[in-house]
Amino acid sequence: MFEIVIIGGGPAGVTAALRARELGASVALVERGNMGGTCTNDGCVPTRVLARAARLVRDAEQFTDYGLVGEPPRVDFARLLNRTQRIVYEIQEKKQLRRQLETAGASVLDQAGDAGFVDGHTLALGDGSLISGEKFVVCAGGHARRMEFPGSGHALTHSDVWTMENLPSSVVVVGAAATGCQLASVFAAFGSRVRLLEVAPRILGGEDEVVSRGVADAFARRGIEILTGIGGVERIEKEGELLRLSYTQGDEVRTIDAEAVVLAVGWPANVDALNLAAAGVETSRGYVLVDDALRTSAPHVFAAGDVTGRMMLVQSATYEGTLAAENASLGEARDYRHAIVPHGGFTDPEYGSVGLTERRAIDEVGEEDCAVATVPYADLDRGVIDGHPDGACKLIVSRSSRRILGAHIVGEQAVEVVQLVAAAMGAGMRVEQLADLELAYPTFTAIVGLAARQLVRDLGLVPVSPRWRASSRPGATEWEHNDRS
Ligand SMILES: Cc1cc2nc3c(=O)[nH]c(=O)nc-3n(C[C@H](O)[C@H](O)[C@H](O)COP(=O)(O)OP(=O)(O)OC[C@H]3O[C@@H](n4cnc5c(N)ncnc54)[C@H](O)[C@@H]3O)c2cc1C
Repeated sequence: MFEIVIIGGGPAGVTAALRARELGASVALVERGNMGGTCTNDGCVPTRVLARAARLVRDAEQFTDYGLVGEPPRVDFARLLNRTQRIVYEIQEKKQLRRQLETAGASVLDQAGDAGFVDGHTLALGDGSLISGEKFVVCAGGHARRMEFPGSGHALTHSDVWTMENLPSSVVVVGAAATGCQLASVFAAFGSRVRLLEVAPRILGGEDEVVSRGVADAFARRGIEILTGIGGVERIEKEGELLRLSYTQGDEVRTIDAEAVVLAVGWPANVDALNLAAAGVETSRGYVLVDDALRTSAPHVFAAGDVTGRMMLVQSATYEGTLAAENASLGEARDYRHAIVPHGGFTDPEYGSVGLTERRAIDEVGEEDCAVATVPYADLDRGVIDGHPDGACKLIVSRSSRRILGAHIVGEQAVEVVQLVAAAMGAGMRVEQLADLELAYPTFTAIVGLAARQLVRDLGLVPVSPRWRASSRPGATEWEHNDRS
């Protein structure tokens, strides 16, 4: 019997296994398919490869502006998908997860088929073999939701995109959260006609409005048609070479014809095969129910990563994997809530966020305590130099504590830029300390300094003459700093 058995070889499971071994437990990890999870095989890595190709296409649009002469590239979709697959293998080779885990002393059973509990301390694997453990960490991740409606079998999910034979000339993407928006963005860059359908009133509805609006405006400029506030999808019918998708908008039923329909409408947990009831593990809304110490309703079973539905990101899955392994191995109940989680999407333009949205910040600290600066990318010299002046950075701070509550960035390298704010939040920096950093010039990250310096002025943290304050003064500029005295 192993001391800890981990189900799932994605980011959460692998980190849980390594940490449990570091703490001296005997560990087995079972994975039904390839090691690496959604992240390597079906999510972040292949999506990022497509985003990279889309980026190269877009860069080529600037050739003539910079005096470069050459033919604009055409997309060979089959070769691109081939490259995508090769990069997935390369990342698998580079990571060598199985070898790494075995070197650490963990037993790895990959390609094992679905594992499911037969009783509280025993799992049955796909081939019928059994494995037993004193404790378990469930890291089984999730999968793309497939909706049931007439003709739903014609619809694809992101997983089907990696094996498409040709680039579709027209695509309807249903669902405008992170995955839907990324797919819409890359298909549009490759030249497909893209329609993006969303039930909510705005795209990227979980993000701050500055992000939703910035991405929606840029999508519209790129010819992506956005249809928000739809009632739902009714059916898909095959009409010759095309698919006819019917959806409701108010009382009307409308139709769109396209070569492909891609659903990006949710990410339920992989719980069906686990037979969690046999171990006394409860679920809530389809996800494994855990407390902040990642304990399930069964005292010896923990869960981490997407399967808990708490925060569906790699960085959060690895954090949770480590915490669950520690609590399982040490018998402790250290708890944690995700508060500072920089994340974003590789759309064109990129977006990145951390902390509270303005709406949430107002709810939490009150409107009077919320100070907000929004600085356009056009104020950055680097934006002009690179020909990417579109976008904005919104920085939100508490007037009373001067701590940073959140940042929301849409524009070039936004996902990288937002990490600086996350580091500042993690270090508990006040806005004037952020404003005083000597950030490298000319960079996109400098936009954070600009926003911080604007707030420092707005909050009266830097001495200025009353007459200057009363005049319609310019905002912060890239070359000025505050008085450090
Ligand atoms: C298109 C797309 C793009 C994404 N891009 C990003 C990004 O850019 N950045 C980011 O942070 N996140 C991104 N994500 C999310 C990220 O992939 C997940 O948050 C992350 O992989 C979660 O890790 P996990 O270990 O919890 O689950 P997973 O990575 O899903 O791993 C779970 C593993 O458990 C295995 N398993 C499931 N059931 C069983 C069973 N019964 N028995 C045995 N094994 C089982 C699965 O085969 C899988 O390997 C993206 C997701 C998608 C879909």
